[in-house]
Amino acid sequence: MTDLSQSVCLNHPDTPAVTRCATCSKPICEKCIVNRNGSPYCSETCAANASESVDRITRTLDEKRRTNTRTRYRAIILLLIILIAAAVAAWFYSQNKSDVDRLMRKTSAQLDRKVQETRTTIQQGIPTSSQYKRDREGLIQ
Ligand SMILES: [Zn+2]
Ligand SMILES: [Zn+2]
Repeated sequence: MTDLSQSVCLNHPDTPAVTRCATCSKPICEKCIVNRNGSPYCSETCAANASESVDRITRTLDEKRRTNTRTRYRAIILLLIILIAAAVAAWFYSQNKSDVDRLMRKTSAQLDRKVQETRTTIQQGIPTSSQYKRDREGLIQ
């Protein structure tokens, strides 16, 4: 921005400018200032443009705030759902403790059996290595 003392008013070439339009930065004199929300403008058009952009910014901020609120709201709902699910699970467990425990034992037993089966399969699948291992153990003993 150049020194205002060197500038003259856009509308009055013989009058020194005192400020610049807040929208288009044109130098303007005291008489030409259009004051809107404490900011100087060269014309009603510039003042209107500025208030429009202020409106737009306000709208954007509002929108953002609404989105934030919505996101927070959603997070709280999700947290509540998780808490309720946990509470229901805990309640269900306390009501059906023996059933659940039996199921757990059954599942774990099935898992053990599967592991055992897999181990047997692997051992049967690679008899040479088992043979080799036995031979080695035989050597050590
Ligand atoms: Zn202007
Ligand atoms: Zn002027």
